[in-house]
Amino acid sequence: MNIVLQCCSLFIVGVLIIMFLREKKLDLVDRRLFTHAVFTCFVCLIFDIISVIAINRTVYGSFSPVATVIICKIYIMLLTAQGYLSYIYVSTGLLTVEGVNRSKFRIIFRWVFAIGEILILVLPIYYTCDDDAVYSYGASTAVAYRICAVFLLASVIISLTCKKRMSRRKYIALLTWQSTWLLAAVIQFLNPELLLVGFASAFGMVILYIQLENPSAYIDAYTGLFTNEALAVYIRDKYKYNMPFSAFTARIIYLTSDIDFDMEQNAVLRIAGALTELGSEPAFRIDDKTFCVVYDDKERMNERMLFIKNRKDSVTGVPADAAYILIPDSSIFSSSEEFFKYLHYHENDTQEITIADEESVRQIRERSYVSQMITDALADDRVEVFYQPFYNVKEKKFTAAEALVRIKDTDGRIVPPAEFIPMAEENGQIIQLGMRIFEKVCRFLATGEGQKYGLEYVEVNVSAAQFDYDNPAKFVMEYIKKYNLNPGWINLEITETVQLGSKKSIIMNVDKLTKEGVTFSLDDFGTGRSNLDYFVNMPVQNIKFDRSFTQGYFQNEKVKYVLKGMADMMHEMNMMIVSEGIETKEQLDAMIDMGIEYIQGFYFSKPIPESDFIEYLKSNNG
Ligand code: C2E
Ligand code: MG
Ligand code: MG
Repeated sequence: MNIVLQCCSLFIVGVLIIMFLREKKLDLVDRRLFTHAVFTCFVCLIFDIISVIAINRTVYGSFSPVATVIICKIYIMLLTAQGYLSYIYVSTGLLTVEGVNRSKFRIIFRWVFAIGEILILVLPIYYTCDDDAVYSYGASTAVAYRICAVFLLASVIISLTCKKRMSRRKYIALLTWQSTWLLAAVIQFLNPELLLVGFASAFGMVILYIQLENPSAYIDAYTGLFTNEALAVYIRDKYKYNMPFSAFTARIIYLTSDIDFDMEQNAVLRIAGALTELGSEPAFRIDDKTFCVVYDDKERMNERMLFIKNRKDSVTGVPADAAYILIPDSSIFSSSEEFFKYLHYHENDTQEITIADEESVRQIRERSYVSQMITDALADDRVEVFYQPFYNVKEKKFTAAEALVRIKDTDGRIVPPAEFIPMAEENGQIIQLGMRIFEKVCRFLATGEGQKYGLEYVEVNVSAAQFDYDNPAKFVMEYIKKYNLNPGWINLEITETVQLGSKKSIIMNVDKLTKEGVTFSLDDFGTGRSNLDYFVNMPVQNIKFDRSFTQGYFQNEKVKYVLKGMADMMHEMNMMIVSEGIETKEQLDAMIDMGIEYIQGFYFSKPIPESDFIEYLKSNNG
């Protein structure tokens, strides 16, 4: 009897089931479907073996032929079910969008399966047994093989066409599993005595288990909690299959700085223990300080969160507080991406409890809208640079300008920088944006059009955040060289930053560029963002009096004296002053009286596009 292969397969699948059942698992839809497939495979193998034994016994006269027919039919019906479940496993994961399986063939396949099983039941089946082979054949068996082939081919086609919707790992695992099955089925169809299908399906289950469904891949070996990666998969699953949930995250804030590595790891272990004791709901370790527990029920989540909150000190073993983020109802977010964006955005919150409500979610949406707008504007070249001329009091003409960025939205609206610069500074997009703006200014200067009409230099804003993420000196010099510019045509506007780290980086960059001939201005003077200490330590050539400061001159006597005193002091230090925000003749005259060198403001011009700016210089500078 040729049952050695089947016995081996049964053993393999049996071991796999034991391992699978023993592991702590996340309740994922794919995993549930895999469980069905594995159990069907196991039962199918048992019937495979029983059918071979029954045929053998019947042929040699010691077993009921009717019972053998029934056993053979159960076996091939299970085989067909296995084919169907494999198809369901592949198609559910890949074709479900927003909780709905988008496959047009879903119902057809269900009917094919049901009718197939009925046909297998009613059509005749025969069996044979000779020296080296035992197998069944006939219309019933032929139907089973054909239907299995259809399910398998459908799974292969879905896998191939949905390649982009899965990881490379999943793609390779699915194709290996399917091609093994397909190959075995073809061989067995052509040579019914070679009973390979059972072995191939067992082999396939092992591949799927190792590559995709191994529960321990999602377990953090140190704490036994689920990993951060598991959280991503779990939450994605919840949104994909429309399964509402509640969750809370807890971030530990140690109240003492005397925490060494061992103490922290011990605290992590204790927290893991406390979370596990909370109940059977899955708990995740996001990082060493942050943990998450997901519930099906909001009430239970609140109650468990309060329970752990009230015993926080004893949990970590060291003086500590915790900051909680509560997500009472997952449907407040439209997707798992939004869920994680929310966590990411609030990851450093220090308030005790942050609740995901409509308002906080609206902020997240607005932020991601802005961030997307910047990305798209960079990709579609809709980042524009406007120029606002500076009136040079001594020469009585416009010899400089400030470059000010705008985004031209898809509907043609000009988006002012206040709507996107703060966001870009926060998330690092300022690097790309800053480089693009700078390159556009360089390109303009390289045409020489402005210089032809008296333009001496252009001021470009550089955010303090650019120094946090990057070394702006590098790209500034690269572009200056690329466009073959005189470094003196560039003046960079910087503001003070509170962060000491970036201050060091600013000084380093400023020194480097100053040596190359680039000049600097201190922007926003008078707003509190720039103070004396800053320009004393910085080699800046220009000071820019902020609009609020120059306007204060006309509203408050004291500001007038401060401003005058400042102007005198700066002049003594050989610095030049640009007065921003001058809108009226009265303001202009006052600034001129004070000896201010450059005037910038709507009195002369708003920031205007490059071509208008050239026209402006042409008509005003003669
Ligand atoms: P800022 O560097 O202080 O720029 C001066 C702002 O004052 C500009 O606003 C300008 O249009 C406005 N302004 C000039 N004269 C007048 C006036 O007479 N009346 C009034 N009401 N406003 C006047 P804008 O272009 O909206 O820029 C706002 C801020 O956005 C800038 O302040 C700067 O901090 C930032 N920004 C603009 N462009 C860039 C850029 O390319 N890179 C970076 N990092 N920041 C930029
Ligand atoms: Mg500026
Ligand atoms: Mg300014």
